Amino acid sequence: MAKQSSKAHDLSDIRNVGIIAHIDAGKTTTTERFLYYSGKTHRIGEVDNGSTVMDYLDEERQRGITIVAATAAFPWTADEQSRLIHLIDTPGHIDFTAEVERSLRVCDGAVVIFSAVEGVEAQSEKVWRQSSKYTLPKIAFINKLDRMGASYQRVRSEIEEKFDESTLCPTQFPVGEESTLSGIIDLIDMKFLRFEEDDGSVVRSENIPQDLQDTAVAARDEMLAILADHSDSIAEEYLEEREIEPETLIREIRELTLQGKIVPLFAGSAKKNIGIQPLLDGVTRYLPSPEDRGAIQAVSSSNGAEKDVRFDDPDFTGLVFKVLAGGSADLLYLRSYSGTLRVNDKVVNPRTGETIKVKRLLRLYSKNVEPVDEVGPGDIVGLIGPAGVVTGDTLCAVNRPLLLEEITFPDPIMSIAVEPKSTKDKDRLDETLRILCREDPTLQIRTHETTGQRLLSGMGELHLEVNCGRIREEFKVEAKFGMQQVAFRETLLAAAEVTGEFKKTIADQEVWAEVGITMEPAPKLAEGLLVSSKLPKSLPSDWRESAVTTLLNGMKTGGNWGYPLIYIKAVVTELKGDSTKTTDAAVAGAVLDALHAALREGTKLLEPLVELEILAPENVIGEITGYVQARRAIIHGIEDAGTLKKLLCEVPLAEMFGFSKALPKLSGGRAAFSMEPCGYQEISPDDLERLASRDTRVMQ
Ligand code: GDP
Repeated sequence: MAKQSSKAHDLSDIRNVGIIAHIDAGKTTTTERFLYYSGKTHRIGEVDNGSTVMDYLDEERQRGITIVAATAAFPWTADEQSRLIHLIDTPGHIDFTAEVERSLRVCDGAVVIFSAVEGVEAQSEKVWRQSSKYTLPKIAFINKLDRMGASYQRVRSEIEEKFDESTLCPTQFPVGEESTLSGIIDLIDMKFLRFEEDDGSVVRSENIPQDLQDTAVAARDEMLAILADHSDSIAEEYLEEREIEPETLIREIRELTLQGKIVPLFAGSAKKNIGIQPLLDGVTRYLPSPEDRGAIQAVSSSNGAEKDVRFDDPDFTGLVFKVLAGGSADLLYLRSYSGTLRVNDKVVNPRTGETIKVKRLLRLYSKNVEPVDEVGPGDIVGLIGPAGVVTGDTLCAVNRPLLLEEITFPDPIMSIAVEPKSTKDKDRLDETLRILCREDPTLQIRTHETTGQRLLSGMGELHLEVNCGRIREEFKVEAKFGMQQVAFRETLLAAAEVTGEFKKTIADQEVWAEVGITMEPAPKLAEGLLVSSKLPKSLPSDWRESAVTTLLNGMKTGGNWGYPLIYIKAVVTELKGDSTKTTDAAVAGAVLDALHAALREGTKLLEPLVELEILAPENVIGEITGYVQARRAIIHGIEDAGTLKKLLCEVPLAEMFGFSKALPKLSGGRAAFSMEPCGYQEISPDDLERLASRDTRVMQ
C-alpha cells in the first residue's frame, strides 16, 4: 500500500472536529453520510441494520448506539480547496461521559446535531456546555426534518433560548418539512439546493423558485443583520445596502465563529440524504484549523516550569486520547500539537520515563487504516505502541519532556460482581478485565476485601451492561455477573481533633514521629476531600509533604466500612520529629494512626445521588413523577419543553436500577431521560437494609 504523508495537507487545511448530540439525534447516520460522500466508504451504512463503519464494536451494532469515540479521517473539497477532516464521533449517553470529555479535549471545533422533533434534549444541552468549557467553536445542524412532528422554527427558537452566549446564525433554511422536505435554500449563494439520485450524491444548485423568493430574501436579511451586529465591515456594507460577495460572507462568518460570537445553523435530514454536503462545506469553511486554536499549556516534566506548546515548535508533542488495548501492543490514538513525528523516531512518555520507538503510524479511517511515514502538528493518527501507555499520557520529543494537561475523569459510581463461569475461564477473564480498564479510564476493577469477588465499577447501569456484553460477545469469555451495587462513601459523624504516633525499632534504630490533625465534615464539598497543612516551614519539606499526601491517600483508601471517605476538610496542625529518629515513613505511620483515631469516633454511610431529567408527554408525566417519588426523589420542578414536559429531580442512584427498562413501559416508549452523578447523601439504616435485601437486577 502506498504510504502517504500528512504533509499532503497544510496545517491550515486540517479540521479536527467532534460530532456531538443527544443519543438518537442522528450523529452516526450523519457521520456515515460524511464518509460516503467523501469517498471513504462505498455504500451508505445504516444504523438500523447494523452496518455502520463507525460503530465497530459488536455491542454497538446490537444496540444501535455509539459507545466508543471512533475517529475517521477523510478529505473534503469546498470552495476549490481540499481539506482533511478528522471526525471524532462521541456517544450521547451520560454513562459514557469519559468518551465525550476525551474527544472534546483533542477537537478544535464541534458539530452539534439536534433532532427537529425532540429539539434540545438534556444530553445535547450537556454536551453543548461541555464544548463551551473547551471554548470550541461550533456549528449546529437541525436533523430529521423529514420526520412527522419536525419543526425547524421551534427547534431553532429552543436552541436560541437555551444557549444565549453565542448568536445562532442560520446560513440556510429547509424547503418543506416532514414528508414535503425537498431541499435547502442556501443564503450565502442564494440558491435552491436539491439532493438527487437515490443516495443524494448529486447536489443540484438551482435558482430559488418564485414562491420562495420573498422568504429567502427576508432570511438572508436576517442573517446579514446578525452578522452586522458583530462585524463592522458587514455592518457598513449592510447599512449602505451594498451587495456582499459570498467570499466576504464566508470569511466573516468564519471569523465570528472562531471568536465564539456566532454559531452557524444548518438544516436537513441525514436519513433522506438532504443537506449533508453543505454541512461538510460548513465544517471546512467555518470551523478552526489547529493553527487557529493557538498555543496550549504544558509543564516541563523535569522542573515543573510552565510552557506554551505552539504548532510551529520544532519538537514533537502529542496527547494520547484513547487506547485500544491489544495483546502485546496497543493502538494509541494520538493528537499531535507540535513538531513532526516520523517512523523510527523515538518519543518519551514523561509519566513513566519510558522511551518508545515509533514503528508504525496509521491514518485512521474508522475501521480501515493506512500507514503514513510522518505526521505533522495538528494531526490525529494511530500509533502502535507498548502496553504501558494510558489515556491522557503525553508523548514527546526525548530532548523536551513535557506534560500536557491531563484529561480528568470522574470516579465510577456503580459496581457489579464478575466471576468466571469455571476455573478455566479465570485467567482470560482477568486479562479481559485488565484490557477493558486500560481502554476506559472510568472503569475500575478491584477485589472485595472479604468475599474476594472481582468488582467491576463504572459510570452507570448502561456502562456496566455494555462492558459485560463486551466480555461475553467480543472477548468470548464465559462469565457470571452478580448484583449491581452503588459505590458508597463514608464521612465523619462529627469534627475530630486527633493525634497519632509512630514508634518502632527498625534494625536497632529507633524510628519515631508524632502528629496532630483536625478533621471536620464538610457536606457537598466540591473537591470531596481537602487537606491542608499548618506546619511551620522550618520543618523538613519531605515530612510536611508526607503528612499531607498520606492523609489524603489514607482517607481515599477507606473508612470503617471500607468505603472511601468524602466531604471532609482536614488540617495537619502539628508534627513532632527529630532529625535522627524521624523519617517520611515514620510521619506517614503517625498520620495513619491519627486517621484511625478519627475513624474510631464514628463515620456514617453516604449513597450516590443522580440528577435526573425526564422528557415525556404531558399525559404520562404524572405517572412518571409518582414512580420516582416512590423512590425517594426530590422533585425540583416540571417545565415546558416544546410540546413535551421536562421533569427535573434528584434521586438516589440505587433506586434507579432498571429505570431504563421501566420508563418505556410507563410512557408507552415516548419518554427519554438523562442521569448525571451529583454528589452523595446520608443513607438511613432502613433504606440500607431494604437495598441490601433487594434481589432485583441480577444480570445473567
Ligand atoms: P445517534 O445516536 O445520534 O448516533 O443517532 P443515529 O444516527 O443512530 O440515529 C438514531 C435513529 O434515528 C436511527 O434509527 C436513524 O435511522 C434515525 N435517523 C437519523 N437521522 C434521521 C433523519 O434525518 N430522519 C429520520 N427520519 N430518521 C433519522
